[in-house]
Amino acid sequence: MHYSEFGLSNTKTLLTRALRDGYAVPAFNFYNMETLNAILAAAEITQSPVILAVSESALEYMGDDILMGLIRGAQYKKNSIALHLDHGHSFESCKHAIDLGFSSVMFDGSALPLNDNIKISRRVSDYAHRFDVSVETELGQLRGTEDKNTKSDSNIFTNPNMVQDFVKQTQTDSLAIAIGTSHGAYKRKNKNESLRFDILERIAKNIPNTPLVLHGASSIPQKYIKDIDKFGGDIKNAYGISPAQIRRAISMHITKVNIDSDSRLAFTSAVRKTLYQNRAVFDPRIYLSTATNEMTKNCIAEIQNIMGSGYKI
Ligand SMILES: [Zn+2]
Repeated sequence: MHYSEFGLSNTKTLLTRALRDGYAVPAFNFYNMETLNAILAAAEITQSPVILAVSESALEYMGDDILMGLIRGAQYKKNSIALHLDHGHSFESCKHAIDLGFSSVMFDGSALPLNDNIKISRRVSDYAHRFDVSVETELGQLRGTEDKNTKSDSNIFTNPNMVQDFVKQTQTDSLAIAIGTSHGAYKRKNKNESLRFDILERIAKNIPNTPLVLHGASSIPQKYIKDIDKFGGDIKNAYGISPAQIRRAISMHITKVNIDSDSRLAFTSAVRKTLYQNRAVFDPRIYLSTATNEMTKNCIAEIQNIMGSGYKI
C-alpha cells in the first residue's frame, strides 16, 4: 500500500515547512491503540502536525496487520500526520515499512563504519524516493542509555565538517545529529550538562536546507518520576534535557524532536497511580483510559511549551 491511501503526509513536506517557519514537528512513539490515540488527540487539540514514530520492536510488538489496521481506523486530519519508522537498522527493514504504507523511514547506520552507513543510507533513499517516502539518516552516535547496565560515556558528536558530503552522498531528506542528547530516562549525570550548541551551529551553517533531527530529547518531567516512585515504582535520578535547551536547539534548525521516554513516564505514572488509589479496580479500560489522557496532556504540553508547532497544519 502507498501511504497516500491512508491520508498520510511524508516528513519532507512537514519538516520543510517547519524549517522555513522556525518550529519543530514532534515525533511521538507509539506501541498500541492507547498510545496512538493519545498522540492523535493531542494533535487534534493543538492543531499540530505530528510524526507517529514506530520502532522496529514496536512494529514487532503490534504486528504489521494490527498496526496498519490502527492507522486505517484512526481519526486524523489528512496531510498533517506522518507515519515514520524510527531507527530502521537495515535496508530490508526500511523497505518493509515503505511497502506497508509508512511515509517516512529512518535508516540508522550510525554504529556502522562510515562507508557502510553512506552506502546503505543511499540505497534506502533510492528506494524510498521512488514512492515519495522521506528518509532520515544519522551521523554521529548518541550515548546509549536505554539499559541501565550498559550506560556508556562514549558520546560521539557529529562532525560538522562531514555533514555536507554525507547529505550529498546519501540523498537523505533529514539528518539526525549527536550534540549531547541520549536515549532513555537517564540522560545526564548532572542537571547542568549542556547540549553542544557550538556543534549545532556549525552543522546548520554547513547544511542550511536540511532539516535536523534531535533524538533522545525527552525532558523527563519530574512530576512523573515522583508519582512513579510514590505509587510503588523505583525510578531515581532520571533527568532529561531542559525545555529551554530544546527550544534553543529548535531556534537553530532542529525541526524534528523525538519524544518517547516522556510519554512512557506519563502513561506509567497514571497506571500506577490509578491502581494504587483504586485497589479494587481490575478493568483495564479504567486505568488505560486514565493513562491515555495523561499521555495526551503531556504531548499537548510538549507541543505548546517546546515545539511551537500548534496551529501549524
Ligand atoms: Zn532515537
